[in-house]
Amino acid sequence: MSESCFPPDMPLPAVSRETLPWWQAAAEHRLVAQCCAACGRTRHPPGPLCPRCRAFESVWRELSGRGAVYTYTIVHQPFLRSLADRVPYVVAAIELEDGGGVRLLSTVVGVAPQDVRIGLPVEVIWDDVAPGIALPRFRPAPAAAQRP
Ligand code: ZN
Repeated sequence: MSESCFPPDMPLPAVSRETLPWWQAAAEHRLVAQCCAACGRTRHPPGPLCPRCRAFESVWRELSGRGAVYTYTIVHQPFLRSLADRVPYVVAAIELEDGGGVRLLSTVVGVAPQDVRIGLPVEVIWDDVAPGIALPRFRPAPAAAQRP
């Protein structure tokens, strides 16, 4: 991304032992999901054990970064002063096509807020917000049938 969507006065995301592999992959502009090594269930946010089978072991699976808008809202009220010139913007739950039901909360960029719709095909782009920290954003993408 050429211009960061991240407000300069917003605290950086906190990294924990469970989320560190996710952040390390994000810094390399790779979208990953934690999966249970025993039953295969995808879970996000990452956690110490599987909510389905209680296994502690997990693996990280790389995702395509493609998905669709599951639901969204258009933010008109800036909650930080630095966002005053960025409203309106879209916050959306993105259902990832290969995420095993995982949805990411993010922003949709590169499209007028009034043109965002439920089901809009999107693809990840990366917002490098600080050294070693990148956040996934999503922009409109060709539908699966239209991709080469
Ligand atoms: Zn499991």
